Amino acid sequence: MKIILLGAPGAGKGTQAKRLESDFGWPQISTGDLLRDAVSSKSELGLEAKFIMEQGNLVSNQLVLQIIEERISKDDMSSGFILDGFPRNVDQALDLELLLTNLEKIINKVIYLKVDHDILMKRLTGRRTCSLTGKLLNIYFSPKHEIDECINNRGKLIQRSDDNEKTIRKRLQVYNQETAPLIKFYKERKSLNIILADKEVDDVYADLLSSLEIN
Ligand code: AMP
Repeated sequence: MKIILLGAPGAGKGTQAKRLESDFGWPQISTGDLLRDAVSSKSELGLEAKFIMEQGNLVSNQLVLQIIEERISKDDMSSGFILDGFPRNVDQALDLELLLTNLEKIINKVIYLKVDHDILMKRLTGRRTCSLTGKLLNIYFSPKHEIDECINNRGKLIQRSDDNEKTIRKRLQVYNQETAPLIKFYKERKSLNIILADKEVDDVYADLLSSLEIN
């Protein structure tokens, strides 16, 4: 199954993609994660992306397409994949169509995870990763025992450098201007499924499986 997950930062794309990956084996391709890896390894590409990401802006289409082309051509993509954070604007969506046509692949489902602005703010400002387990947590929403488990085992709650309030506001503004038009784009192609995603992770996942016509 080849899936595009659309939605604002904080909509839960990463969480749901990881779950699908673990249950069905379709690799999650998160351009955000791939860019953060490039930044950590201080590659040329990473150095170019670092400042732009810290500002909450979009990295150039050319750079992102380069990453996607490289990743999508790998062997583990044959059974399917989940695109998380790509495409991020209409030009990227058109580039993706061209790339997939050349590779003789098609997208089976485009799923839009819809979440209210206020909830997005709380999800993003509260988001942390446990340094020990890599588990995604939220200081507002995660059960207290999960937060305590990390801290009591001497783990640290790490906050992404672009999850501060100023950058979050910018990222949401960029989302509204650049990415939200993709909803119309895929609606016109009659391939959009909408899921109300301001619910519990398990409930969103159940709706996602129904949209994918699994179950
Ligand atoms: P994310 O982890 O998806 O929230 O992405 C974090 C940051 O990486 C974004 O704010 C952008 O700066 C950059 N980024 C991720 N995906 C893309 C993309 N498809 N196009 C341009 N920039 C991206």
